[in-house]
Amino acid sequence: MTSTTEARVSRPIADLESDSLLGSFPDGPRLVGTRCDRCGRTMIGVRVVCSSCVSTDVSRIELPTTGVLYTFTRLHVGGDGIRILGYVDLDDDVRTLADLREDGTPLRPGLRVELGVDGDNWFFAPVSGATKGQSDD
Ligand SMILES: [Zn+2]
Repeated sequence: MTSTTEARVSRPIADLESDSLLGSFPDGPRLVGTRCDRCGRTMIGVRVVCSSCVSTDVSRIELPTTGVLYTFTRLHVGGDGIRILGYVDLDDDVRTLADLREDGTPLRPGLRVELGVDGDNWFFAPVSGATKGQSDD
C-alpha cells in the first residue's frame, strides 16, 4: 500500500541558525553567543529570536572563555576511554554542556575553567593555577 498524500505539517521555527558553536573572532576561536538587544539576555549559539522575550533584535557576540564548573560526570563508552562531560557556567551567565579535560588538576564543582580549542573540537579545562585553593579573603 502506497501513500500518495503527504500530510502537511507546520514545522517549528528553528531558533538556532547553525549547529556549530565555535566561531572565528578577532581574538581567535570562541564560542558563539547571541545577545538580545531588547532585554539584554545572553544565549549560547547563533539565534534568530531571543529565548526570553522573543525579540528578533539580537546580535551575534563572542562568549567569555572562562567560567565555573557547575557539575560533571565521567562516561565510560566502548573502547573510547573515558569522556568527561559537564556543565560550565560562563562568566556572563550562560550555562553550557561541554567536554572537559583534566590536565592534571582534579575536577570539582566550583573550579575555574577555560575554553580550549583542538581543531574543530572545543572543551573546557581547569584554568592554569586553579589547583591553588580558592579562598575568598
Ligand atoms: Zn530578549
